[in-house]
Amino acid sequence: MCKANQQIVPGINNEKSAIGNLHLNPFCPADLNPVTMKITFLGTNGWYDTRTGNTSSILIQSEEYDIILDAGNGLAKADRYITQDKPAYLFISHFHIDHIVGLHTLVKFRFPKGLTICGQPGTTGVLNAFVAEPFTVPVAQLSYPVTFLELDEGDHAIPFPVESRLLVHPVPCFGYRLSLDGKIITYCTDTGYCANAVLLGRHSDLLITECGLKPGQESPGWPHLNPETALKIAKEAHAKRLALTHFGAEVYRSPEDRTEVQEQFQKGCPGLIVATDDLTVEI
Ligand SMILES: [Zn+2]
Ligand SMILES: [Zn+2]
Repeated sequence: MCKANQQIVPGINNEKSAIGNLHLNPFCPADLNPVTMKITFLGTNGWYDTRTGNTSSILIQSEEYDIILDAGNGLAKADRYITQDKPAYLFISHFHIDHIVGLHTLVKFRFPKGLTICGQPGTTGVLNAFVAEPFTVPVAQLSYPVTFLELDEGDHAIPFPVESRLLVHPVPCFGYRLSLDGKIITYCTDTGYCANAVLLGRHSDLLITECGLKPGQESPGWPHLNPETALKIAKEAHAKRLALTHFGAEVYRSPEDRTEVQEQFQKGCPGLIVATDDLTVEI
């Protein structure tokens, strides 16, 4: 069966939208690679939680692994979607609290095949200090084995291929390019426009970027992306599809603010995904 025809992607507020239909293709390229991968946006806010969303976390369900990108408050929802029976990997982009605050919920998970936490050099020390008494149950006392894996910039096989590169942010922040099930997923959060984001995103099946700013808004002192700069990165990278997440909580105050981005930019970016909490897409 042609998997591409099943690629109906829920849009804003999880309603069925026309976004996925733009990708119906008579040649059905998905048949060449029939594995579909589910990507669920668990938390889509930047900075802090609001009624619109939790802080950043994304779940990728590949054939062999469950992979989580960042550990904002969305992390606590991951066990709604996975059995936890696969080896789990958690990638931390950087240590701003909206990307790690959910780590205190690690105690609710069981991960019998272990959890590997990947991050920039220094991750072990920072997270062992944060996931610790008196704040929460320490990493070493979790019911499953946790391994820290500190990555330098560059290419790694952990065992699946991962490329990590520094983005532009007031503190060191990694973007990641993951190769899974024959597909490329790239995650660039908390960054301004930069060459490394384009490099990481090259020919991605799905490029996920932040969208901290509203259209036309700029923040040179503390760089973030607006929809225009996110689309610029996706275009220059020749990414097949772009998903926007990490919407700044103080500027995107309602779901309608995100709907406006969808309506304004989807023509120039077919298949554009404007993420909302609990949205699942298949690629
Ligand atoms: Zn952030
Ligand atoms: Zn940040």
